[in-house]
Amino acid sequence: MKGEITQAQALLDRANTIVIVAHERPDGDAVGSLNAVAICLENAGKQVTAVLADGVPGRFLFLPGAERVQQTIPTECDLLIAVDCSAVERTGYDLESLPRRVDLNIDHHPTNNHFGVINFVEPHAAATAEVLFDLSSPLGLQIDTDVATNLLTGLVTDTIGFRTSNVTPKVLRVAAQLIELGAPLAEVYERSLNQRSFVAARYWGRGLSRLEREDGLLWASLTLDDKKSVGYPGRDDADLINLLSTIESAEVALIFVEQSRGKVKVSWRSRSGLNVARLASAFGGGGHEQAAGAIVAGELEEVRARVLSATRTILGSDSDRGGK
Ligand code: 5GP
Ligand code: MN
Repeated sequence: MKGEITQAQALLDRANTIVIVAHERPDGDAVGSLNAVAICLENAGKQVTAVLADGVPGRFLFLPGAERVQQTIPTECDLLIAVDCSAVERTGYDLESLPRRVDLNIDHHPTNNHFGVINFVEPHAAATAEVLFDLSSPLGLQIDTDVATNLLTGLVTDTIGFRTSNVTPKVLRVAAQLIELGAPLAEVYERSLNQRSFVAARYWGRGLSRLEREDGLLWASLTLDDKKSVGYPGRDDADLINLLSTIESAEVALIFVEQSRGKVKVSWRSRSGLNVARLASAFGGGGHEQAAGAIVAGELEEVRARVLSATRTILGSDSDRGGK
């Protein structure tokens, strides 16, 4: 770790133009971590471009730095940093369109495949924002109020308001320090977790009208037609999966979101200690033990049948229960 810090410091010192990228269909940890690194490096005198293949979702536009995030990735830079991406494909950009190999890979997914030249991957961290908080002092990066607000958003959203089982006393101490640095907890919580748009609520309605349940599995689907008819602008599920996972008797909740004809985004949430990351990996995705996702090729109905069947098999399997 110490050698990697020194190596990263040398790369950062030498670089002038820096590109930072997070994952497609970005969540609060992706946007918050991206903005936090961008602001720190800009304050350190670097020329920084922050990019997201899908842009910043509306509910994170209040974050400092969000207005400067681009969708077009520059063709050249001195240093490329990826945050909250478990694999380089998660950036949502074609490999050929990246300006160079990823130099710094900063993440907290256990399924991270160490694609960077230097990899700061901490699977026990509750969010990439926590990894960044820990790296800030060794890398000599200053956390001002704007950076703190972004990092707190990463922590609040990835832990769904400090409710997940990976919330340790240390996570709460980090959050407390971020609040001391000026991050507005109540506003972050309200804007990034509580509030949703009218169209997102109607989109939820479409999905909820198709809610199904069987043997400890609970699932809903969102079609391209739902997205179009309510006018929902994103390619994500508007966080409906987190609502599904609150419904009683669901050991595993799933959502199927049609992305385009022949491509479906699947999300799993497990409440019972079942390892859904392994299942997601088997479908070419990844994530955390209790929250994972994958893009699966096939028509919606066919993908749903295949994924439900595979998920049913782990319900009865002890090796997927509580295993790492
Ligand atoms: P969600 O299902 O809410 O998109 O994501 C849940 C978790 O799984 C997150 O940690 C996310 O980064 C990860 N995840 C979601 N989709 C994919 C995917 O297509 N590939 C990989 N490797 N991880 C994913
Ligand atoms: Mn994250």
